[in-house]
Amino acid sequence: MNWTLGRMLLAGALLLPGLAEAGEAQAGEAQGGEAVAPLPEAALDVAAQLRAQALAGSGAWEVVESLTTEVGPRMAGTEADARAVAWAVEKFGGFGFDRVYSEPVRFPVWRRGHERAEVLSPFPQPLHLAALGRSVGTGGQPLEAEVVEFATLADLEAAPEGSLLGRIAYVSHRMERFRDGSGYGAAVAARGKGASVAARHGAVAFLLRSIGTDSDRFPHTGMTRYEDDVRQIPAAALSNPDADLLSNMLRRGEPVKLRLDIDVGMGAEYESANVIAEIRGRERPDEIILLGSHLDSWDLGTGAIDNAAGVAITVRAAALIAALPQRPRRTIRVVAFANEEQGLIGGRAYADAHGERIAEHVVGVESDFGAGRIYAFATSEPPPQAQRVLEQIAQALAPLGIDYMPGKGGPGPDLIPIAQRGMPWAWLAQDGTDYFDYHHTHNDTLDKVEAAALDQNVAAYAVFAWLMAESDVVLHRPDKSGESPGR
Ligand code: ZN
Ligand code: ZN
Repeated sequence: MNWTLGRMLLAGALLLPGLAEAGEAQAGEAQGGEAVAPLPEAALDVAAQLRAQALAGSGAWEVVESLTTEVGPRMAGTEADARAVAWAVEKFGGFGFDRVYSEPVRFPVWRRGHERAEVLSPFPQPLHLAALGRSVGTGGQPLEAEVVEFATLADLEAAPEGSLLGRIAYVSHRMERFRDGSGYGAAVAARGKGASVAARHGAVAFLLRSIGTDSDRFPHTGMTRYEDDVRQIPAAALSNPDADLLSNMLRRGEPVKLRLDIDVGMGAEYESANVIAEIRGRERPDEIILLGSHLDSWDLGTGAIDNAAGVAITVRAAALIAALPQRPRRTIRVVAFANEEQGLIGGRAYADAHGERIAEHVVGVESDFGAGRIYAFATSEPPPQAQRVLEQIAQALAPLGIDYMPGKGGPGPDLIPIAQRGMPWAWLAQDGTDYFDYHHTHNDTLDKVEAAALDQNVAAYAVFAWLMAESDVVLHRPDKSGESPGR
């Protein structure tokens, strides 16, 4: 996922039950209005040393190689989910942390059996598609119906009442490519809501053009959500070339009839785990710098960019700090969240489990945007007296080609439920130009990951985590929406 979507979710599209009061004293008051002491030279020297060490070879690529080779696809609730948790506990255990442990995360399993699609008429041929996560199937037998195309989700929403009775609704909107991935937020609403909107209009199934920027014949899966009061209809994504093909047929003006045979659905409850590794702070162990990523993936690729890369970047950054002769002043906590893909379930479980102790979290930062280089840094609203230290951190990141962009960014996806309870966040923005070529497809594999780019990421996370842990900086706590005051 990415931060644009994060902000959308924060804006209220995703409402979390049982939000706790974020009634902590604001950071400015906590710091008594006095300037935060600047970071001492010695701390900045260690940051430079960590940066050089990471760039010389951080070991992150080896972690991605290990997870994708030894576990592979690890969709939440599959047998590989359990193997991924065991892998993480063992792998993290070898990196010199003071403590490695796991916390339970429960959710109902979604199962993918098979999905087949073909054009019956007027030009019979197969189509490549993938069911969307949490979709229902076609009920044990193929479904045959005519397709109606809509250019956008808004057009589908505007369709006359009952106009789709017995038909398949198809949204052909194409995602646009941007460095910051901002095309995703605009396109992905159709994946989340399209099936519900189509069902309200009487449709028997929902198809969409994959939320992806590639021209490969690989469909992009991802989560869909049914509104509470709608009939649940099958939902699937066509690869970009297959979407072109279907649109070309429809443009000829004759009815196009499809057969869909989709065997997927919900199963029993499952217990997975958030896997956590910690370096205990030498002076303020109860003040936590949280580095997040997610351990689960979709089932199609091996989840190299989404999100073995994030696991590797965060755990190797912390491992470099764990190998220093001295502990940081504050605690550094790495969390590999369970089941991000099907609704931020690990992030919600963490927010619930740590409800009263969210105030101990100084800041959270997440790596969940692939394996590209980091180009920007920002945090949630800092009080003015913390500005000097944040500028020092920005200066320590600058040699990595990272610009300070205050006022930009947002929390990573797993951090949203925690930010909504008041955890401040930081943003280390990765170049996502090609992220959505591979995201959630069979093509999300190790060959897309460049070791030197991962090393640059590890350098940035290590520098940031170390300097925040050495500092006295307290950021403003976001409100219930997760947004910082003054933004
Ligand atoms: Zn994902
Ligand atoms: Zn992800």
